[in-house]
Amino acid sequence: MSIASIIVDVPAMQTDRPFDYKIPEKWEEVVKPGMRVVVPFGPRKVQGFVLEIKEHSEHNRLKSIAELFDLTPSLTPELLHLGNWLTEKTLCFKVSAFQAMLPAALKAKYEKIIRLTESCIKEDLPEILKSTFVSNDQIDWKEAEQRGIFKAVQKEIEKGTLELIYQVSQKGKQKKARYLAWNGSASELQEAIENIPPNAGKQKAVLECFLENTEKRYTSKELVLLTGSSDAVIRTLVNKGLLKETYIEIYRDPYADREFRKTSPLELTDEQTAAIGPILNSVEENRHEVFLMYGVTGSGKTEVYLQSIEQVLNKGKEAIVLVPEISLTPQMVNRFKGRFGSLVAVLHSGLSIGEKYDEWRKIQRKEVKLVVGARSAVFAPFENLGMIIIDEEHETSYKQEENPRYHARDAAIYRAEKHQCPVVLGSATPSLESFARAQKGVYTLLPLAERVNKRALPNVELVDMREELRSGNRSMFSVSLLEKLKNRLEKGHQTVLFLNKRGYSSFVMCRDCGYVIQCPHCDISLTYHRKGQAMKCHYCGYDQLAPNSCPECKSEHIRFFGTGTQRVEEELTNVLPEARVLRMDVDTTSRKGAHEKLLTSFGNGEADILLGTQMIAKGLDFPNVTLVGVLAADTMLHLPDFRAAEKTFQLLTQVSGRAGRHELSGEVVIQTYTPGHYSIELTKQHDYQAFYQTEMMNRKLHSYPPFYYLAVINVSHPELTKTVSVTEKIVHYLNGSLGKDTMILGPVSSPIPRINNRYRYQCMIKYKREKNLYSTLKQIIDRFQQEMQQDDLLISIDLNPQNMM
Ligand code: ADP
Ligand code: ZN
Ligand code: ZN
Repeated sequence: MSIASIIVDVPAMQTDRPFDYKIPEKWEEVVKPGMRVVVPFGPRKVQGFVLEIKEHSEHNRLKSIAELFDLTPSLTPELLHLGNWLTEKTLCFKVSAFQAMLPAALKAKYEKIIRLTESCIKEDLPEILKSTFVSNDQIDWKEAEQRGIFKAVQKEIEKGTLELIYQVSQKGKQKKARYLAWNGSASELQEAIENIPPNAGKQKAVLECFLENTEKRYTSKELVLLTGSSDAVIRTLVNKGLLKETYIEIYRDPYADREFRKTSPLELTDEQTAAIGPILNSVEENRHEVFLMYGVTGSGKTEVYLQSIEQVLNKGKEAIVLVPEISLTPQMVNRFKGRFGSLVAVLHSGLSIGEKYDEWRKIQRKEVKLVVGARSAVFAPFENLGMIIIDEEHETSYKQEENPRYHARDAAIYRAEKHQCPVVLGSATPSLESFARAQKGVYTLLPLAERVNKRALPNVELVDMREELRSGNRSMFSVSLLEKLKNRLEKGHQTVLFLNKRGYSSFVMCRDCGYVIQCPHCDISLTYHRKGQAMKCHYCGYDQLAPNSCPECKSEHIRFFGTGTQRVEEELTNVLPEARVLRMDVDTTSRKGAHEKLLTSFGNGEADILLGTQMIAKGLDFPNVTLVGVLAADTMLHLPDFRAAEKTFQLLTQVSGRAGRHELSGEVVIQTYTPGHYSIELTKQHDYQAFYQTEMMNRKLHSYPPFYYLAVINVSHPELTKTVSVTEKIVHYLNGSLGKDTMILGPVSSPIPRINNRYRYQCMIKYKREKNLYSTLKQIIDRFQQEMQQDDLLISIDLNPQNMM
């Protein structure tokens, strides 16, 4: 008897282990590890992942698998393994880890069909399938089930003659194009043409299209164009049995309508050559090693990635390139597509569910060798990985902020170790954690200190905005920035203006009494949106109309503070009426493709100034940009986050890197209220190393990473007293269980003490070595499990948190 051990889709502590099920005889060789099945669980039926197949079980009276869900494993053995590891590292449920690795199309209940692939020859199918497919090219899953042909179908899927497709809703359905082909042998074609009656010249012309290559397929549009015939003529030929129709899947390729100019490898600079050497060695020797490529902006890191990948592909292996969602711009994608063409799959959140599924299937079917994608692309189901690259490795978006709370860097290193291949982390401003590891020799440091062709890093000017105010300038542009803006306009150069949105909302404040309008459900001020005069809460979605007078003192001197991009745009048109401004923020880029349109238009010189938020900080490479302005550098500096200085330095360095990347040299103006802060001052000197030293001292002083590891436990509940008392109990428990060198801080209220009418408290654990950590945290979840299910209590545990809010 065969038994499958299965992780069921019931995310709870008690069910977070494999359960044994009998495999019905008819599916005995069909069920494989990594496949999804449906099993009876208590009174219901649930989905489950098959972990392994075995002969014996310690339990008797096993239930049987009720239905199959896949016919090919949706997770490879390696990914199953990775799921177990994720579970341990992030304390998530096994089933959540497995689900996180699959594209959304596979998670929902979509209809499934089994159909012939292009390479299928019906005559060669085994008898049992021949009758099924005799008159059609596809059948649905239910029918296959009824006919009991799963085993035969599975064999054909493995051969590549059949495929199982998840039909993603109407919109996401595979697109198929109708093609026409000659329905006979080559020798019969000439004869058929001669047999066409003389008055049917158009039919003749259509058939003649196939003379050169009788295997060739045309769309009817092509035939019409080639011969000047019509759809009716083609229809006649089909009805006569001379032409046959075939339907071929065309992938929903989001980049299909774009042309990629083919690029060839550039001759590397000396620095690039020195950096790529060790990477190529580890590829050659199939050796796992983690590299930290620390290269200033414009030093040619991407070219090093491209040439490293080339070597990996030459060895017949595959590669994953992770880039932050925000810099997954068409410009970036083009660089990979331009070099490797159709070998590249692209995965990012801008794609529809169906498009993502198509890209994923290209990986699964081994039609591509390289995936460029955001965080979750680290789970690409390649089986012969030769390299993982993480660009802008310091980006916090590599950490998932919901369950499973994994960091893509850790997952990448874990996978690469299994595949014995290198990981390349790249950044101009590495995270302190990574740079410290490189200093200790855990990672291999590959420095690129100079820009390609020795172009100078841009000159950075810091402007003290307090001085501006004292000298009577109340505008949001300093005298110096305005002067330079004008100068660029005269020269016909372009400018990028950056407004840091994070931690800087446009709030509404009464100038008489100082009252700030708050969300009634969250302890946070509402953000003013010009459109519809609305005020919105960015945490719970609450909105209201902006008031005309102060709700507190009735004064009419209520005004909108902060500088949203819209306000900057307005003021720009006031002071520089002749400037053509492009604004890029969530409002102007919400429509699909808008992001790209704006960038293309800026690249074509259709605007003088590109004004935007975080989304313009990275990856952009425009030769004509010679000025970068940062309107307020310190907005992020005062957030209650120990990484505030690091994030500020990284962002300012990134933004500055947009200037003068090509022949024209660049300049940067940074406006700030705290010019003396080291994170801002050292940007001026482009001195990452000095920043690193200073920041490391601070971290050491306050026992923060990379000197200590962190874990944060967040507790939330609608009642304050309950929230506090649960957090107190947790702290008490931690104190009793963890070692004496571990620090336990709290309970304290969270930086945002209330969201959506739920109070929030937290405690923080700082540790170096703590052998009891995981077991203790698991016990805490176990202890409060019931209250979490019944009493609306939420406890979340974040190991190595990136976001302290
Ligand atoms: P980074 O990723 O480090 O910011 P890029 O890879 O974008 O740097 O390189 C900056 C510019 O230099 C790009 O326009 C790139 O095409 C060019 N470049 C890179 N390497 C070379 C090289 N070896 N020779 C000439 N140009 C190069
Ligand atoms: Zn709210
Ligand atoms: Zn007031």
